[in-house]
Amino acid sequence: PALRPDTNDPSESDIESMLRPQRMEDFIGQEKIKKNLRVFMTAALQRGETLDHVLLSGPPGLGKTTLAHIVANEMGARIRTTSGPVLEKPADVAGVLTNLEEGDVLFIDEIHRLSSVVEEYLYSAMEDYRIDIVIDSGPNARTVQISLPPFTMVGATTRKGLLTSPLRARFGIDFRYDYYTADLLQAITKRSARILDVPITDDGAFEIARRSRGTPRVSNRLLRRTRDFAEVEGDGEITKTIADHALNALDVDEAGLDDMDTRILLTLIDNFDGGPTGLKNLAVSVGEESGTIEEVYEPYLIQEAFMERTPRGRVALKRAYKHFDRNRPSESGD
Ligand code: ADP
Repeated sequence: PALRPDTNDPSESDIESMLRPQRMEDFIGQEKIKKNLRVFMTAALQRGETLDHVLLSGPPGLGKTTLAHIVANEMGARIRTTSGPVLEKPADVAGVLTNLEEGDVLFIDEIHRLSSVVEEYLYSAMEDYRIDIVIDSGPNARTVQISLPPFTMVGATTRKGLLTSPLRARFGIDFRYDYYTADLLQAITKRSARILDVPITDDGAFEIARRSRGTPRVSNRLLRRTRDFAEVEGDGEITKTIADHALNALDVDEAGLDDMDTRILLTLIDNFDGGPTGLKNLAVSVGEESGTIEEVYEPYLIQEAFMERTPRGRVALKRAYKHFDRNRPSESGD
């Protein structure tokens, strides 16, 4: 549920990889991450070493997978991709690790979903490039230690809070993503439009950008859907008018809030008198996991001043009341 539905559609994911920047200079925004990463990569290359392990955290669709691929490209390395839920037992990990070559990037998506046995098994691999494997079975079973070629693990997570501290400590490099500004998303939208060969005006791109929830994956998806409207109902060019019309038809509201954002805010306002209410109550009422609300939805709503987290619970802010045309309890006179 943390992922937007379209990421499971194969044709959509093909387009996603088509739009994925391959080099650092095509990766727009996240300047602090890029600047630091450039230094670390250059230093590693100069010393002839592999890059330290990298942890990337932040909401879905902000470019974690993309950056993992870019790191591999820039380091002249191969990338191997897996994810927390796929690595069920130590043997699965051993299979992946023993197939690595020197310098490879091992990308583990959703790293917070590793089981604790698997996680503990990774410690020595990350720290000393060594693992224990069990050979033979029954009475002949024995453990041998094997060494691995130096590699770089890139872990991605939307739920950094769920990582244990021993695992976190084994990442020498730790980056947290910020949402993108509308200006950056406009640049990303124009780049994607160029790749998809869709004519778009500056203000058309800006309209899509500012309603994309700070998220490149969302702006890329809205661009493709808006293109459909431009082709069917216009002359093919995405203008501000076409974009506005398309986004309204797609139920993307003026502030770019999606269904779950709207549900969270309206539940807070209508069912809990605007709060404060506990995260668990809120989660049960909207039918979403509290962790997902906390780390996927809330960060954007808080950044945009629709709600806040207080010690007593979640509270809807003035902007939320205004946005949904509701009276704030203090203003309604009762
Ligand atoms: P995550 O792994 O964080 O969920 P992805 O790396 O899969 O996100 O990014 C989703 C899509 O957004 C990709 O197709 C990519 O094209 C686009 N994207 C993400 N970040 C950027 C960026 N900084 N510049 C350009 N495109 C981006």
